[in-house]
Formats: sequence, structure tokens, C-alpha cells
Amino acid sequence: MDRRAFLVLTLAGCADPSNRVAVGLPGIAPPAPTPQQPAPVQPLPASGDATFDAWLNGFYQKMVTEGFPSTLLDRELAGLTPEASILVSDKGQPELSKPFSKYIIDTVSDARIAIGRQMHVSQPILPVIESQYGVPRDLVLAVWAMESAFGKVQGDHDVLRAFATLAWQGRRRAWAEDELRACLRIISSGEAPRERLKGSWAGAMGQTQFLPSVYLSTAVDGDHDGKRDIWGSSDDALASTANYMLKAGWAPGQSWAREVTLPASFDYSVAEGPKNTPIEWATMGVTRADGLPWSGADAAVGATLFLPTGARGPAFLLFPNHFVIRKYNNAATYALAVGLLADRFGGEGPLIKAWPPETGLLLADRLASQRALQAAGFYKGDIDGAFGTGGRAALRLWQKARGYTPDGYLSPEMVVALKAELAAGIPDGPAPAPVTPPQP
Ligand code: CA
Repeated sequence: MDRRAFLVLTLAGCADPSNRVAVGLPGIAPPAPTPQQPAPVQPLPASGDATFDAWLNGFYQKMVTEGFPSTLLDRELAGLTPEASILVSDKGQPELSKPFSKYIIDTVSDARIAIGRQMHVSQPILPVIESQYGVPRDLVLAVWAMESAFGKVQGDHDVLRAFATLAWQGRRRAWAEDELRACLRIISSGEAPRERLKGSWAGAMGQTQFLPSVYLSTAVDGDHDGKRDIWGSSDDALASTANYMLKAGWAPGQSWAREVTLPASFDYSVAEGPKNTPIEWATMGVTRADGLPWSGADAAVGATLFLPTGARGPAFLLFPNHFVIRKYNNAATYALAVGLLADRFGGEGPLIKAWPPETGLLLADRLASQRALQAAGFYKGDIDGAFGTGGRAALRLWQKARGYTPDGYLSPEMVVALKAELAAGIPDGPAPAPVTPPQP
């Protein structure tokens, strides 16, 4: 490709609407591109890995083309090396899954509830946030608790190095390069120096673990000192989190979820299915587990039934606010933990129904279960061992077809039954292809 074609394509890439970082924010726009001046190729010192150097030099040139000053790029990108531990952390599914109930019991702990209840009354910013953003103080506190143990554990990875490693590795290159670009914008704007940009291995920064792009678009100055300091100012971090939830669509006054009691001989296959209002669910015998009536704000809102540990465990009606929390972190476990913590911080009691005993499942068993559901024609998703929404939906259909309770819960008993069916299907056909473990 000649240089002119390269330049046109690169500039077209700048106009990509998915590159929404910093759009419209005053004072932090990148310098205007200068297409008249050919981008100089500026080899950076070798990292010791030729493929990393090739990626980094390509990224460097792209940033020059976009108008970042070479003095900034030389200072921040020179000497970068990949961080091996990040590649290990990013490798995907664990060998043994952590049971949902164990995650909730560990995270919604008595010690954490005690701190949250104390914070509920001791942080003067909270009522201000609540009235300004319409987001409950206990929700913001719960995110703070989950993300950094109330500001104490923010991560000490160099965020630029983390995103450089993830971009070089390539699985999420475009995303990681966008975040790296956001880091450069934060530094060049003067809002935070490089040494402030510390966070998790996945590049989430500060007391409520914002990605750099989210910092640019959503962080606010809660303590009104003129800076958006999500690392050193809890007021800034908490107000920024409330702003995030508001922008994500938090509906003031509505619950995030409510524990419910299901009648005997309930059709569990409706779990994670239709959105009905609590009034409609009541016609199927679904009631609030605490026996209280539905609030006016909740009664007419569509809610989904969720059974995290199947028919034996607690059941929840999930309101739209649950899915707002999922925009912070898309794991159902995370959203449930945040919501339950918030309820407890606000003075509510523990769940009515106890979590059932659970055991972790081996990756090989989760993969085999997905393969069995696929072979039986119920599952079309990835064979990745994650067993999320698609896996549970397929399992409910399979359970219903085979006469089991269709609750979508992958218990050890279901794994045995699925593997037996998969094995029984082999004699007439070729042996199943060997399962390929995820590549690091
Ligand atoms: Ca501030």
C-alpha cells in the first residue's frame, strides 16, 4: 500500500463513530491531525520481543498520524514491554468454576455490610449525589465496596502497559488501542500524570475502576476542586459512579431486583424468559419473599425471573435497574452481589431462602455439557465453558424435552446425564472432535 492510501485509511479510521472517547468534552480534545506532514516512523527502543516492537511502532505511527505530539509519544511509549502476568490473567475460563452461591456469600459478607452501613451515614457526599443523580447512595457504595474495598485496593498495574500488552496480544486489539489512546488523551490534557494511571491488570483505574475512555466521558468533579480525581478523591469516584449509572439508564425509585417465592409445581422454564410485571407474575403465584406488597414504582414494570442456582435456590425478579448494573460489569454474579450489598447497606435483612450446597464444575465438564447440548440441537453458541445465558436457555429446553425440572441449572447430575447422552450418540457416527483448550 502506498503512503497516500495508508494515510487516507488511517484518517478514515479516526472518524469511526465507535471511537467516542472524549467527544464533546472541553479541554481534552486531541490536537488536530496534520495530514500535510508525513508521519515520521520513529523506531522505539527494542522491548526484546520483535512482535511487540512491531505492534508498538505501528501504534506509535498511528498516533502521530492522529496528531499526538511525538514528544508525548516518545515519553509515554518508549521503553514499554509486555507484562507476562496480564496474559495469564487474560487467558479465559478457569479450570474449576466458582459456584454462584460461594461468590455471593464471599462478597456479601457481614464484615463488608458493617463497613457499608457505617459509610452510609459517614459520607456527606452521598445525599448530595442521590439528589443530583437520582441514584441510590447504597448502590454507589456497593460498587465502591466491590471495585476497590471502599477505595483501599485500586490495583498497581501501569495502565498504559496493561493496554499495550492486551493490544499486542491481539484478541481485543481495537478495544485496547482505543483505551491506550484514551490514556494518552488523559495525560496530554493534564488531568492526570502517567504515574497516576494505575489500576487492575485489565486497565480499570481508581476507586471505582473506570476504564480510561469512561474516565474521559463520564468522570465528574464531586468535590469541586477543579479536578476529576477518581484515584485520590472518594467524592469524585462516588459522584462519577452515580453519573455512570444515570447515563446507563438507572430508573429512580425502582428496585434492581426482589427475591420472590414460587409456588409448588411452578414451570421453571420461564426463567430468564418473558418480562412480566409483578402483577402478572402474581397471577402465576409469584410473590415477594418478604411478604410485603409491591411498591407502586415496581408493580407495573416488566421483570424477568432469575434462578441463579436453579429450582433449589433463591429466586429473583430482575427489574431494568439490574441490567443497568450489568453495564458496569456484565456478569450476573457481579450485578446480584452489588444489588444485594446495596440492599443490606440500606438496612434490609438477608435473603429468605438459603443458597443450596453447590460444587464447582471442571472446565472439561462445562465444555462437554455445551457439546452435548449442541449435539442434541439445543445450543448454537460457542463451546467455551462459560455456560452463560445461551447455555442456560439451551439446558432448559433439553431438560424439558428429557423430563427433568427445566431450571437451566448445570448441576453435577445434569453434567452426568448430558455426558451420557453425548456418549450414547457416538456409536452410529464419528467420534467427537477432541476439545481444544482455550489458547493463552
Ligand atoms: Ca475533584
